[in-house]
Amino acid sequence: MDRYAVIGHPIKHSKSPQIHAAFARQTKQEMEYKPLLAPLDGFADTVRAFRDEGGRGANVTVPFKLQACSLSTRLTERARAAGAVNTLTFEGDVIVGDNTDGAGLVRDLANNLACPLAGSHILLLGAGGAARGVILPLLLARPAVLTITNRTVERAYELRALFADRAGGTQLTAGGYDDLEGWSFDLVINATSASLENQLPPIPESVFAPGALAYDLMYGKGVTPFLAAARSAGCDLIADGLGMLVEQAAESFALWRGVRPDSARVLARMRRKQAFTR
Ligand code: NAP
Repeated sequence: MDRYAVIGHPIKHSKSPQIHAAFARQTKQEMEYKPLLAPLDGFADTVRAFRDEGGRGANVTVPFKLQACSLSTRLTERARAAGAVNTLTFEGDVIVGDNTDGAGLVRDLANNLACPLAGSHILLLGAGGAARGVILPLLLARPAVLTITNRTVERAYELRALFADRAGGTQLTAGGYDDLEGWSFDLVINATSASLENQLPPIPESVFAPGALAYDLMYGKGVTPFLAAARSAGCDLIADGLGMLVEQAAESFALWRGVRPDSARVLARMRRKQAFTR
């Protein structure tokens, strides 16, 4: 049986084994997918041991995505742009590093949430690893405007500079929260970790254009302060990051198995389960 794993620290909370098991059942793939705890100082050894025992590939989660990038002997373009790797594929001695997070977000927006990206005005909050990982896939969807806003404004400027030559026809801008006053967007993506601490990035109400979608990458926390703020600003389209999680998994699964699962069905089931257990 082909073996895969998700490697992180901690790892018990990960929903990836459940998601990949559902994909495997659905597509009738003979495979096993297990959570694998790596010691904080032992990521590379854990990956190599898993590969040497016959592992075919692995997902990588917090806090190892940067180390996975250094460990990869070949990087895909989107992994290089993200500077982080969440999907490893073992091809003999070669470790191929990919990043499916951004593609997962774009698929969730486009396919599950019917959010038109081409020609839209997008605000991206945050300039950490998650924000960096979604910029190239968002630019490839050809929005009219992509504005990166961060608390530490220099990090937003750095990301703008990093992606300036990939912007194409998109107006790529960067700044701090104070610069947002008076501007509005069709899609506001919270890629900060503020929701983890139940905090709200200091966004003015005006950022939500009529009919805007507010999207929080955080999932499993219900209506976060960001989503609550969007609602009270009159925004009735809100989404958490569960769809992104399922879609990035589907992208990894398709890479490894050559077959694309019906991710929308798995997502719908997980949402029903979430509603029942809350
Ligand atoms: P990170 O690298 O640590 O970056 C954190 C970012 O949040 C930085 O830009 C930081 O700003 C900003 N920030 C933190 N607290 C803030 C606050 N109170 N107000 C405003 N900005 C604040 O974290 P990350 O890896 O990018 O992850 C960000 C989030 O994405 C996490 O919640 C994670 O769970 C989520 N995520 C979800 C998925 C998914 O599949 N749904 C995938 C990946 C990540 P400074 O630069 O000023 O410190």
